[in-house]
Amino acid sequence: MILSNKAKNISPSLTLAITAKVKEMKKNGIDVIGFGAGEPDFNTPENIQIAAKEAMENGFTKYTAASGIIELKRAVANKFRNDNNLTYDVSQIIISNGAKQCLHDVFQAILNPKDEVIMARPYWVTYPELVKICDGTPVIINTDEKNSFKFTIEDLNKVVTSNTKAILLNSPNNPTGTVYSKEEIKNIAEFAKEHDIFIISDEIYEKLIYGDFKHISIASISEDAFNRTIVINGMSKTYAMTGWRVGYAASGNTEVIKLMSNIQGHTTANPNSIAQYASVEALNGDQSSVEFMISQFKDRRNYMVDKINSIDSVSCTKPEGAFYVMMNISKLIGKKANGHTINNSIDFSQILLDEDKVAVVPGDAFGVSQYVRLSYATSMENIKTGLERIHSFINKIN
Ligand code: PMP
Ligand code: GLU
Repeated sequence: MILSNKAKNISPSLTLAITAKVKEMKKNGIDVIGFGAGEPDFNTPENIQIAAKEAMENGFTKYTAASGIIELKRAVANKFRNDNNLTYDVSQIIISNGAKQCLHDVFQAILNPKDEVIMARPYWVTYPELVKICDGTPVIINTDEKNSFKFTIEDLNKVVTSNTKAILLNSPNNPTGTVYSKEEIKNIAEFAKEHDIFIISDEIYEKLIYGDFKHISIASISEDAFNRTIVINGMSKTYAMTGWRVGYAASGNTEVIKLMSNIQGHTTANPNSIAQYASVEALNGDQSSVEFMISQFKDRRNYMVDKINSIDSVSCTKPEGAFYVMMNISKLIGKKANGHTINNSIDFSQILLDEDKVAVVPGDAFGVSQYVRLSYATSMENIKTGLERIHSFINKIN
């Protein structure tokens, strides 16, 4: 039987595969340290869990409007007003099964075959694949650790064509932790205006910023940016709700949201009704657990960065946001670990897992083979043990 050529061209999600593998190994009693998962180790805050139980008891267990319940859209609109200085009508908001589905819906809504979407490398593993699923072409700008993994207007000028449909911005960034400044964001907004293209702004890590940087939503830069931007966000990271599957998108372009809702109505229909009611509490309720998680992430980041930079042959820059560190392993490429040659980040990650039971995500998942990504969304104890194991693994490499 001949299967879809398009589907055969889509790679699996390596981040999810590694996360699942670590969970399986732990279940089988293997003492593995997981730096793979891009998900907070904290349980979902109790007030949110209580809201979910109440939703079930109150019979909110039925289909909802395909694009989400009005109560949650209002809570999302309030969040945008308070946090981002953005005023959306509820008709300009959609609730989906995670930010991932929002991204899928938006590409389905705006792309025609041959349309190009510009994104930075290292890119989050899902971006190019989703663009391909939606018949578009990913156009990749290589960014550099020396420039904090940021792309510039010069870079954009080099790749823009008459087929460019959108720029994909992810700040704070997965996997690099980079945060774009207001000035940089303003320039990108102006570039998008000049070339009349959409901006898709994935802001799922907006609360996870640790230094003096402030998150600025590109949609808030100007009225023009408001109308051409689709902001993507969700509950997974800020509220430790990865498994609940609730994300949301908003745009000043009401038509885009309408098309996204139509697509969602025929694919998954509404996101889980109980999780939607719980998300209303997450957004409207007490935020102290979010503050607590952020302070923990900050301590973990500082420890991880210092420890990595104290190990010979590897290094990292200090990420400003999200919960990932990109460890530069370029000095180890071509060397041997226990007789196995390390040709790329996949080899490094595989041998490290086999030999010393530490899971990291190979940079190849993000289009760069000289790095591995470590998530610090795990306990300080795990971070200390895992980094000790990495240190002794690296000492064995020659
Ligand atoms: N965007 C980025 C940059 C991510 O890292 C993730 C990972 N979870 C998502 C979107 C999707 O998140 P979710 O579907 O869990 O809301
Ligand atoms: N986004 C997270 C990560 O990069 C979760 C896994 C996924 O959705 O790909 O690890």
